[in-house]
Amino acid sequence: MGKLDGRVVIVTGAARGQGEQEARLFSAEGARVVLADVLDDRGEAVAKELGGLYVHLDVGDEAGWAAAVGAAKDAFGRIDGLVNNAGILRFNELVSTPLEEFQQIVQVNQVGAFLGIKTVAPEIEAAGGGTIVNTASYTALTGMSYVGAYAATKHAVLGLTRVAAIELAAKGIRVNAVCPGAVDTPMSNPDGADPDALDGLYRQLVPLGRVGRPEEVARLALFLTSDDSSYITGQPFVIDGGWLAGVSVL
Ligand code: NAD
Repeated sequence: MGKLDGRVVIVTGAARGQGEQEARLFSAEGARVVLADVLDDRGEAVAKELGGLYVHLDVGDEAGWAAAVGAAKDAFGRIDGLVNNAGILRFNELVSTPLEEFQQIVQVNQVGAFLGIKTVAPEIEAAGGGTIVNTASYTALTGMSYVGAYAATKHAVLGLTRVAAIELAAKGIRVNAVCPGAVDTPMSNPDGADPDALDGLYRQLVPLGRVGRPEEVARLALFLTSDDSSYITGQPFVIDGGWLAGVSVL
């Protein structure tokens, strides 16, 4: 028995990183997974391996969401879960951030999550209820220099999560957020450095002394997508090795 037997779950940004690991774990737990991304070759390859469905979806595009939902229903007949995972990060001092860059980050991270909830929630309701997991960040709960646009969108994702949880509860839909700290994916480690080498950097910053692994975030997303979290909705779940707990002075 898998924890997601019989469920159909859309995971955005599933071609690599945390989304890929979520798709892999959900599939291993019995779900039929719809992998959505803009990295088509990579997404197709993962979907093929898992027996899932790959759809090209720019999460900031409303028509694209409608097409993705149509393809998912054609393939599997229903949708009962969504992981809004796709996201982008840019480093810039706030006063040097071009408006276009700020808006691009909003379009993917914030509008993308909004459109996902808006388009998929009615389908989940029609399937008799289910779950939405939004991917926020450690920077949804605290500040960090040089990621102002990103942090603003991740704070917004938490606001969306709370309002959606209240509005959708009566429709049988639970909505929660994961808030990862530093996780070893192409976003935070674009050069693909050995994670054990990165751990040296994080030993100073993070109480648990290492960078997180995408498989660890996938296990949290599984908890929030499965019945193990049946009485939980509207909450941010920090997964950061203790980074947010405070600073170490000695
Ligand atoms: P990643 O860059 O490896 O993966 C992100 C995926 O999203 C990629 O496959 C990318 O192609 C896809 N994507 C980007 N723009 C898209 C769009 N417009 N439409 C559809 N797909 C798109 O990064 P990751 O670390 O796996 O990030 C996953 C999520 O976790 C993101 O929301 C990110 O902000 C969040 N996060 C990451 C970290 C970290 O340290 N890696 C920390 C906190 C939060």
